[in-house]
Amino acid sequence: GNAILSGYGTTIFEVMSRLADEHGAINLGQGFPDERGPADVLDVAANALLTGWNQYPSMMGTPDLRQALANHAKRFYDLEVDWKTETMVTSGATEALTACLLGLINPGDEVVLFQPMYDSYLPIVRLAGGVPRFVSLKAPDWSFTRADLEAAFSPRTKLVLINDPLNPAAKVFSRPELELIAEFVQRFDTLAVCDEVYEHLVFDGRRHIPLMTLPGMRDRCLKIGSAGKTFSLTGWKVGYVTAAPHLLQPVAKAHQFLTFTTPPNLQTAVAFGLNKDDAYFADLAGGLQAKRDRLAAGLTAVGFEVQPSAGTYFVVADIGRFGFDGDDQAFCRWLTAEAGVTAIPVSAFFVENAPTTCVRFCFSKKNEILDTAIERLSKRF
Ligand code: PMP
Ligand code: GLN
Repeated sequence: GNAILSGYGTTIFEVMSRLADEHGAINLGQGFPDERGPADVLDVAANALLTGWNQYPSMMGTPDLRQALANHAKRFYDLEVDWKTETMVTSGATEALTACLLGLINPGDEVVLFQPMYDSYLPIVRLAGGVPRFVSLKAPDWSFTRADLEAAFSPRTKLVLINDPLNPAAKVFSRPELELIAEFVQRFDTLAVCDEVYEHLVFDGRRHIPLMTLPGMRDRCLKIGSAGKTFSLTGWKVGYVTAAPHLLQPVAKAHQFLTFTTPPNLQTAVAFGLNKDDAYFADLAGGLQAKRDRLAAGLTAVGFEVQPSAGTYFVVADIGRFGFDGDDQAFCRWLTAEAGVTAIPVSAFFVENAPTTCVRFCFSKKNEILDTAIERLSKRF
């Protein structure tokens, strides 16, 4: 058919997870933790389910979660947020992103995207009638230059979509990089949709810097988060948007016709989670950092050329030395079938200028699973 999405196949995450299941492979492909999530958050959800309200909550989200979002913004980023006019709950960050694009752009508007990019970005830009303009980050440090931005921005740019920390590259944008992006956003009088779902998954003492906190950016940014990442509950699909009222209102219009609401009992539990003490957030990052080191050391020992991972729960490894004719997709299929370990080909995150020798591993798994994966790999390399 000629529907807008007719050219797209099944998402790479589903494809690789199915292939992993077929082969009984250890699935280090699709990003999800293999633990149950924080017990106290689950308790609050269970209790809310049994004794609380299970009908439509307000389309903007439950007051408890919206207040928790404002408190979280103040606690971690010193951002003053009015929960009543500047927060909205969505069914996952995916819906938040979609509502932002549908709510903010007109057909023909240009959208600046950084490659590698999360797989839903381009389809939703197209659904909204936007015209993508790409900035291709260059491995191994996934850097970009002022000239790259000059080439991508134009008077027709409506917004830039930025994912920081960046899936799959595991890059955390530096303050100078964010300042450069902020300069262009202001110079071209545009907006920034900031996918910050991995905001708490940053390592080695780094602190996540929301683009929204840079000078002049408070009222140009829409900041998106996800309980899926912050509480290791990816199946819940609870996301949120924080933005100035004049930006949030058009996004809310799209949201009301997409999902309208999100399960209230889950919202109450996420509110409880966001109010947990600093130790929870530190332990989340610290625990993942140890897993990163464990998997990276194992991959290195086996012969992979492992790139640094500053954030997210992913690590990218270069497979150039293993042959496969620079075909990361073929490598990932082979690895699943022959080594019993699944990874995601990084080329899936590009539409042009894709690197062909990078694969992504998820390390948010039990230590024994990571160790078994390395054992399996060591039999093949
Ligand atoms: N953005 C990025 C960069 C992601 O990695 C993910 C997780 N798959 C999402 C958005 C979607 O988040 P959610 O599951 O909350 O919709
Ligand atoms: N965000 C997850 C990843 O990058 C997958 C989410 C999904 O399967 N849609 O692996």
